[in-house]
Amino acid sequence: MTNTDTRPEALGEATLGELAQALRGELLRPGDPSYDDARSIWNGAHDKKPALIIRCRGVADVLRGVEFARSEGLTLALRGGGHSIPGFSTCDGGLVLDLSPMTGIRVDPDRRRVVAQAGCLWADVDAESQAFGLALTGGLVSTTGIAGFTLGGGIGWLVRRCGLTCDNLVAADVVTADGQYLRVSKDEHPDLFWAIRGGGGNFGVVTSFEYRVHDVGPTVFAGAVFYHGEDAAQVLRGFGEAAAGAADELSLAINLTTAPPVPFLPEAVHGKPVVAVLGVWSGRADDGDAATQPFRALAPVVADLFGPMPYVAMQTLIDPLYPRELSNYFRSAFFDDLGEETIDALMSSYGQAPNGLSELHVHHLGGAMGRVPADATAFGTRDKPYVLNVVARTPGTEGFDGVTEWARSACSALGPNAASYVNFTGEASEDRVRASYPPATYARLVAVKDRYDPTNLFRLNQNIAPTGPSAQRS
Ligand SMILES: Cc1cc2nc3c(=O)[nH]c(=O)nc-3n(C[C@H](O)[C@H](O)[C@H](O)COP(=O)(O)OP(=O)(O)OC[C@H]3O[C@@H](n4cnc5c(N)ncnc54)[C@H](O)[C@@H]3O)c2cc1C
Repeated sequence: MTNTDTRPEALGEATLGELAQALRGELLRPGDPSYDDARSIWNGAHDKKPALIIRCRGVADVLRGVEFARSEGLTLALRGGGHSIPGFSTCDGGLVLDLSPMTGIRVDPDRRRVVAQAGCLWADVDAESQAFGLALTGGLVSTTGIAGFTLGGGIGWLVRRCGLTCDNLVAADVVTADGQYLRVSKDEHPDLFWAIRGGGGNFGVVTSFEYRVHDVGPTVFAGAVFYHGEDAAQVLRGFGEAAAGAADELSLAINLTTAPPVPFLPEAVHGKPVVAVLGVWSGRADDGDAATQPFRALAPVVADLFGPMPYVAMQTLIDPLYPRELSNYFRSAFFDDLGEETIDALMSSYGQAPNGLSELHVHHLGGAMGRVPADATAFGTRDKPYVLNVVARTPGTEGFDGVTEWARSACSALGPNAASYVNFTGEASEDRVRASYPPATYARLVAVKDRYDPTNLFRLNQNIAPTGPSAQRS
């Protein structure tokens, strides 16, 4: 961190007392009974100790927290669902502005709109919107926060039908570094509205999101089919052929993984390499069997769990496989096709997987996401039909460097210059941030950053550094 940060011990009791008095939510400090719970985030690789945590109850607390961090020169971390892979939603010695208590949601079924406060998780938004048979592209794991997810883009089981999550954002309320409270939309502060759809948490604190929602389910045809790991190349090849003709209502991913000891898989494969093809047909449920069939006969089947199910059930199906507290590193690479060269690269990385927690996720993109013009939002890469997300994990810190290295090389194997996706990137080196945006998009993001956050108050993120002399560096 920059050496201009205030040392927390320099904050006087009177100053902190005044801050606590002014808040509706709690101000937590080391030693408070709930401090340890409140400081932890999903990724156990980041065990940090902030000096202060504000658990915001509303916009007023966010305004006060931003003001306090700015005036006291504190490092500022923003937290929604706490799923940041690089651990940006915590910090050592600074202030965490935790919006997770802000979970209000209003669904307007007639206008097909959902307004959700920034502390909501996908479980919250899915439950409220599905009460009206509505949904938008959300996380594959329901405990992920809507805030970081939306601001980075948002890839989920409706991405080919409804676009990225950020493509469904119609407006947001934002607290800027200088304490303004702005509503942004295509007609209000359009530059900021453009930047927060893909540019991450660089530009201000979003306190609420207004989304367009779509008729989905409540019953969809969804699930997973499992194949033996030894058939992985055949599955990848067949998937590529079938995907070329897939309808937008079908969003699928491939997971090259190790079979967990779960009752729905035969014991004979537990702990062995398996390939899962999983996802959602969100068209008419009756058409789902036929639409998914080409992907469920790619090789001899270990288990086929596709069938009609509530959309909310699919949205929580894989939650148990991604528990808190493991050490995690993700790395991503967009790519063009599942041709032989790509299959060889993926198979080689799969063969070198360092442990049973290491996974290669291939998400099939395109459809509605690919039809949004490249310059309509700040999201970096729309013209590639696939993105690889390498999930590298260890139970504790032992061996973590090794799995991280494996994830890096699995991505470089797809091309040294492959574009990354900010939300699937476990680090924030300048080259990774630049790899997430085409040069023109990056330049435009810098201009918006210069305008709304010239001192880089919001720098714990995939940082777009401002150009001014007063800018602090991450
Ligand atoms: C288990 C798991 C599953 C995932 N699945 C998917 C998936 O299916 N698709 C996908 O696209 N991504 C997925 N991701 C990645 C996910 O999108 C990012 O990690 C995202 O940042 C998480 O958002 P959050 O609010 O939970 O995180 P947080 O850690 O709370 O926030 C992450 C960052 O977002 C910014 N931020 C948070 N809140 C605000 C705010 N109110 N205003 C401004 N900036 C803010 C800050 O920079 C913060 O550091 C997954 C991650 C995990 C850990």
